[in-house]
Formats: sequence, C-alpha cells, structure tokens
Amino acid sequence: MSIQQENIFQQIISHAKEYGFVFPSSEIYDGLSAVYDYGPYGVELKKNIRDYWWKSMTQMHENIVGIDAAIFMHPTTWKASGHVDNFSDPMIDNKDSKKRYRVDHLIEAKAEELNNAGKNEEANHLLNKMEELLAAENFTELKALIDEYKISCSISGTSNWTDIRQFNLMFKTEFGAVASDNPDDNIVYLRPETAQGIFVNFLNVQKTARMKIPFGIAQTGKAFRNEIVARQFIFRMREFEQMEMQFFVRPGTEGEWYKFWKEERLKWHLSLGISPEKYRYHDHVKLAHYAKEACDIEFNFPIGFKEVEGIHSRSDFDLTQHQLYSKKKQQYFDNDIDPTTGKPYGNYVPYVVETSIGLDRMFLLVLSNAFEEEVITKEDGTTDSRTVLHIPTKIAPVKLAILPLLKKDGLPEIAKQLLDECKPYFKCFYEEKDAIGKRYRRQDAIGTPFCVTIDHQTKEDNTVTIRYRDSMKQERIALSSIKQLILNEL
Ligand code: ATP
Repeated sequence: MSIQQENIFQQIISHAKEYGFVFPSSEIYDGLSAVYDYGPYGVELKKNIRDYWWKSMTQMHENIVGIDAAIFMHPTTWKASGHVDNFSDPMIDNKDSKKRYRVDHLIEAKAEELNNAGKNEEANHLLNKMEELLAAENFTELKALIDEYKISCSISGTSNWTDIRQFNLMFKTEFGAVASDNPDDNIVYLRPETAQGIFVNFLNVQKTARMKIPFGIAQTGKAFRNEIVARQFIFRMREFEQMEMQFFVRPGTEGEWYKFWKEERLKWHLSLGISPEKYRYHDHVKLAHYAKEACDIEFNFPIGFKEVEGIHSRSDFDLTQHQLYSKKKQQYFDNDIDPTTGKPYGNYVPYVVETSIGLDRMFLLVLSNAFEEEVITKEDGTTDSRTVLHIPTKIAPVKLAILPLLKKDGLPEIAKQLLDECKPYFKCFYEEKDAIGKRYRRQDAIGTPFCVTIDHQTKEDNTVTIRYRDSMKQERIALSSIKQLILNEL
C-alpha cells in the first residue's frame, strides 16, 4: 500500500469514528482486536445496505425466500461441512519477532513489493507458484518459496521462519451445564458462515414455502472467525455479518446458474451507482475439492483490489454431507419432464450456487467509495475545503436535514411540520443550532443528500431552499414538493 493510500485509509477510519459510524469495541478498555461497534449513523447505513440486499434477493426474485437461523448449530453440522477438519489457514511464525502471518498474505505482500519496483513478471510468477502450491497443500515447497524470495518479517526484518502449520479459525464454546465424561460432548461452535443454517433447513423451507427448483434461500446474520491476522479495520473482523444466498438447481444446470449469479451480483453493486472501473472479477485457480467454479468480486479499496463477495458453484457437496452425517435424505423430487427420457427427472440431491457477501466489507466499500476531501474554489478565487460522503441516496443514513435558519419567528414551527410530514417515509434530521454553513458541513460529513432551510421568505411564499450534497447547488422550491422530491430518489 502506498503512503497516500495508507493516509486515505486512516482518514476514513478517523472519519468513521468522529462522525458516529464505527467505534472500536469496548474502547474504554482499549478495544478488542478486530471487533467493532456501529454508531448512530453506522447502524443506519448498515441496515440500509442489508435491506437493499434483502429486497434485491427476496422481493425482486419470486423464487428466493429468506430464513433466520440460529448462530449455534448442532456440532455435527461442522463435522459434515468440513469446517472442523479443514477450515484453517496455513500460517507461519517469525521466530525472532514471534509475529504470525498468513502465508498467502505474506507472499502477496512480497508480490506487491515486486510490482511496485516494476518487476511485474517476477511478481506474477511468485503469485502463480503460490496458488499452485496452496492448491496442492504443498507446505514444504511453499516454505522453500518464502526462502527463495528472501521474504522477511516486517517487524524483525529477519527470514527466520518456523514451518508452515494449519490453524483452525472456528471459535468454540461450551453449551449447557451438563457434566459429561467426554468434554467434546458440550462443545459448540460460533458459526463461521451463515450458509450451513440454510443447508440444514433446505427441506423445511422447500416443503413449507412450496418451492420448486430452481429456488434460493437467503439469510443475513453474524459469523465468527478467529482470524489470525486481523488488521485493516472492518475489512477483516473476528465477528462480522454475512449476507448469503444459496440457490438450489437441477444437476447439470449449475454452469448456467453460476454465470447468471456472477453477472447478477455485479449488477447489484453497479446499481448503487458505483463506477464499474472500481470492480473486477477474480476467478479462482485454487478450488475447494467439491467446488466446480468460484470467483470473487473485488473492489478497489484504499488498501488495493480486495474481495468483497464470493460466488461459488458448490455441487451437491453440502447437502450430500448432511445426508451422510444426519442419515436423513436431503433430496428433492423433480416432476418436470426430462426431454431425453420423456419421464420426470425424479429424485436427486440439488446442486448449489451460492453468493456470499460480507456486510461489513460492503459497508467499508460504500464508505471508501463515498469519502472525499474536496477542495472548493469560491467565486472570489479563494479556496475552502469540506469532507463529504457521497453515499448513494438509497442507502444514506439520513435522507433529509431540516434546518430552520433561526430559532425564532415561527421558523422552527414550519420546520417541525415538514419533519412530521416526512418522517414516516424516510429518515430525517432536525437541527436549529449553529450557523447554516456549519450545519451543511456536518450533513456533508455524514452523507445526507438533501438539506432544506426554512427562512423568513418561507413564511411569505411557502418556498424553501434545498441544497444538494454533491453539487452544493441551492435552489428555491415549494415547501409542499419536498417529500415527493425525496421519495422519487428512493
Ligand atoms: P478472505 O479470503 O478475505 O478471508 P473468504 O474467501 O474466506 O475471505 P468467504 O468465506 O467466501 O470469504 O466469505 C464470504 C464473504 O464474507 C467475503 O467475501 C467477505 O466479504 C466476508 N468475510 C469473510 N471473512 C470476513 C472477515 N473476517 N471480516 C469481514 N468480512 C469477512
């Protein structure tokens, strides 16, 4: 990351704290690493992103329904899903600094260093080699690669590394107070992904909502991972929220559905008005053994292009595993006619294409995309500056700020009438203190797209000044048109 990028990232983090978006968790006790709390504007923005996703899935697609599964699940779930045995990252420790690194992060950082030095070919070679060795889980050669490129620890500066080992990322806790001879009997995990709550409810949902394949189940909720390298603000957290959708399809059709969802999900991002140049796909070379195809949607964060969402074609792996471990059939009877046989497709375990996005990561994406330190040239040629969040109106925490110019002469009364008229429809903010310019700046900083000022002229002709956040343009319009103007933007 360049110094300039690092600076922007730090500015966003400070801004998020100063304006009530994101606070470090339990800050009065010096915080808890990689855990964060959302403040008054943060919680609104987060909810709006979640709602926007939820609506796009469950309302805009007739064949997708939602569930809300518990965080705790029967521990066998995680045996069946492979998380107990395989949900781990290869890690390496520097013996001098005692600092632990994720092997892929360590090598990627080296590749970036090479890229910055103009050695792009060498960087690509290193990354390709890494992907190949990670796919083969060949840790001996991976370690040799670290040695070959003389990769060193950023703290100790040495290349005195331990062997590479796997670390499981699931949090464990004890369940109930029943004494047992086997301590493992009481162990439950905090779910590391929401998807398994969908898989184990596949038949409950299919039967009760009378769904016909192809159909999807959507869910949003907390997930927990004991990330070893947990830095970078809310990009990588130990407690975070996912928005996942599992789409169940007839075997043999997964290729076309994978393609469909890959495109559909990027369209969702672009529907927020974010520039397509800031996005790219990253197709996976290293596939999980059950996966048929997988890609990430990456966004150009201030920390570089990084994954915000994954689209995975998971075959029938999960349902088959649950069938095996639970000894309960996870099949669907498809009575559509197969044209090749002239008979119904019959019973099968459906294939799954999933879309999985981190809500917190999407939140960071929105903040990063919105944040601007803008220099304004005034009419007299002098300059001024403002910090503004260009958050899309649809998801902005506050849509309208209502600002009486003075705290007297009946202006607050008119303003409060407007507030009463609008607040059942969208989030408003009312403020009568401070100079108007200062109030505008505060609204810019939290990303409020519209400010309305009520002044003495309002009393005469029922017009108000509306100010647009992005252009800072102001115009006089009828007081009675405000509500509809904003509703049109939503
Ligand atoms: P990464 O490679 O960044 O660790 P992943 O490939 O393990 O991510 P998935 O298991 O595919 O991620 O999870 C789906 C989505 O959940 C990710 O695209 C990301 O947006 C989000 N996510 C995963 N881990 C975290 C985390 N620790 N903090 C915040 N969001 C996360």
